[in-house]
Amino acid sequence: MARFEEAENRIFKVKICLKCNARNPERAKTCRKCGYKGLRYKAKDPRG
Ligand SMILES: [Zn+2]
Repeated sequence: MARFEEAENRIFKVKICLKCNARNPERAKTCRKCGYKGLRYKAKDPRG
């Protein structure tokens, strides 16, 4: 199941801009595309 783990980590370590939905690095404080400060982690499906 190493493949799944790797994929999940890669998806999870990403922040999504609330304004333009661009993917940003985990450590980003502002969106690199539009500069918006509203970033959230890409949420895992709670029902997963
Ligand atoms: Zn943005």
